[in-house]
Amino acid sequence: MELPQAFLSRMKERLGNAFPDFLRSYSYPPCRGLRVNTLKISADEFAALSPYPLGERIPWERDGFYIGEEKFGSDPLHSAGLYYLQEPSAMLAAAGKGERVLDLCAAPGGKTTQLAAHMKGSGVLISNEVDFARAKILSQNTERMGVRNGAVTSASPERLLGLFPAFFDYILVDAPCSGEGMFKKEPNAAAEWSPEKVLGCAARQRSILDCADGMLAVGGTLVYSTCTFAEEEDEGQIENFLARHPRYVLESEEKLYPHERRGEGHYCARLVKREGEFCPARPYPVRRSSHANDAFYGFAEETLGTIPTGEITTLPDGRMYLVPAGMPDCSGARLLRLGVELGEWDGKRFKPAHALAMACGAGAKRSVRLGRAEAERYLRGEMVGTDEGDGWCVVCVGEFPLGFGKCVDGTIKNHYPKGLRNR
Ligand code: SAM
Repeated sequence: MELPQAFLSRMKERLGNAFPDFLRSYSYPPCRGLRVNTLKISADEFAALSPYPLGERIPWERDGFYIGEEKFGSDPLHSAGLYYLQEPSAMLAAAGKGERVLDLCAAPGGKTTQLAAHMKGSGVLISNEVDFARAKILSQNTERMGVRNGAVTSASPERLLGLFPAFFDYILVDAPCSGEGMFKKEPNAAAEWSPEKVLGCAARQRSILDCADGMLAVGGTLVYSTCTFAEEEDEGQIENFLARHPRYVLESEEKLYPHERRGEGHYCARLVKREGEFCPARPYPVRRSSHANDAFYGFAEETLGTIPTGEITTLPDGRMYLVPAGMPDCSGARLLRLGVELGEWDGKRFKPAHALAMACGAGAKRSVRLGRAEAERYLRGEMVGTDEGDGWCVVCVGEFPLGFGKCVDGTIKNHYPKGLRNR
């Protein structure tokens, strides 16, 4: 791989005697990692089910494992949301939780789904991504992982600041950066790198951090991370922030270099806001429809065997969502996902949404358990056979839901979303 000359000179100056070790790290294959989704299964239980061998545990994430080259991403257990594939050092930053959590730069969703696992369903997690196309991928990933207590929005940091001043008690800024730690995984990052790009990224990060400050309540934690080594974007950025925002204290700062630890490279700083205020946000305006609710409860009792508790909102177009307790009004941002999407009520019938299957957990009353080969057929959109009587069912690989199906005369009509189907 060709590394930019100016980058090498900067690293040599920074690392001194350690530079040859750093350079040697580029001759090793990229580190790969898997994080078990503890919203669905414990790490030990998953280790026993894993389609391929797991390597050592990642020291800074109790549910993360090093993995090899195997195709973990094509296994049905991945579609069931039992794990997320994530570069090991990227798991460094999202070890925290709060009651009102914002992940400001969240796509594709590695750290958001990690935060969600640490929150264990309590509190509220707003996952935001300014780029709408990337926000859609973020939304799919939070759906696959069965996150119930969140919302996915697509807005600029400035826009969100207008909606949520001094509201959150935990904000993660996993900032867009010059990506020096991504050179092995994304050779384009190396081709596009330049000292000017570093400065441009630093300026953008500064304004994102200022917005994050405006949204953080007193006592709250601000976590800032990048996957780059550039001082201007890392230690220098935080030094500059602290000089401009004396109400913060730096709680910890870590930099992961690939020649020192098993990961491609990351920087992470944790800051606490000592002074400031807290402004409650307006609660999410729930629109109740008793007809729609009754239709959903009927479906839930018959198919899932349980009725989820909580407020249900029904939009004018009939889409229904289970709203997490404490959810603020995010209607000023472009909202892609709210709590659990339950399904659609057309005035006569309720039709379940894929997200409901992904969030409902194992053990639905009407579930069809498939082996791996049949599950792969279901995930391709094919019909599979069943003994289950006619009606909706949750289609599972083993006990883990993959989506809905409708049983008709011994076959399951496939309701796995077309956009997610494997080819
Ligand atoms: N946290 C993500 C994860 O763990 O999967 C990765 C985030 S990535 C490092 C940074 C994100 O910031 C990108 O998705 C990018 O689209 C977004 N971004 C780019 N410009 C931005 C801006 N001006 N304000 C906020 N986010 C921005």
